[in-house]
Amino acid sequence: MLNLVLFGPPGAGKGTQALKLAEKYKLMHISTGDILRKEIAGKTELGLKVKSIMDRGELVSDHILIEILQSVLDRHHDVNGFILDGFPRTVPQADALTAMLNGRGERIASVISLEVDDEELIRRLLNRAIEIGRSDDTEEVIRKRLVVYNLQTHPLLDYYKGHGLLKEVHGIGLVEEIFKNLCKSIDAISLK
Ligand code: AMP
Repeated sequence: MLNLVLFGPPGAGKGTQALKLAEKYKLMHISTGDILRKEIAGKTELGLKVKSIMDRGELVSDHILIEILQSVLDRHHDVNGFILDGFPRTVPQADALTAMLNGRGERIASVISLEVDDEELIRRLLNRAIEIGRSDDTEEVIRKRLVVYNLQTHPLLDYYKGHGLLKEVHGIGLVEEIFKNLCKSIDAISLK
């Protein structure tokens, strides 16, 4: 079972790379941002609850995210592993993830952090705003999301370093080049 966390700030390229990695290693891609956006598009009770929080660039509460993840895990037992994109984002989420995987007799194989500096992130997110027009991609909300990342999510790097699970991959350059480096880092785990 190859359970991976793809970690990094908004705009680091997690979504793009997670899709490619899921295909190559036959993993189930779980993007909590995508799950929440689907709820909003479907105007479900959950969607209505989280829309304004997401539009402000803030984090949705841990208990909602943990419930969502548990329900996805519960529905998928026959997989090679998961690639998590956008979860965990806080220490309580990370603790819950370990517990949920323990409950299945599984663990995280590696947390791979895509390293991209703030200037490049803002440039990419502003471009994405023009190309895709996500409602949380305005400049003000982008800056807020980076502040939220630095305050609430960045501490997870030390958390996972402490658990000996962190690997860092340079996240600037061609998509294919970054993908190759991610694969190298994953192949090194699988060979252990
Ligand atoms: P993303 O697509 O991963 O950038 O997520 C978009 C937005 O969804 C975030 O800015 C948060 O508002 C919300 N979100 C996604 N994943 C999480 C999470 N693990 N914890 C809290 N909020 C989340």
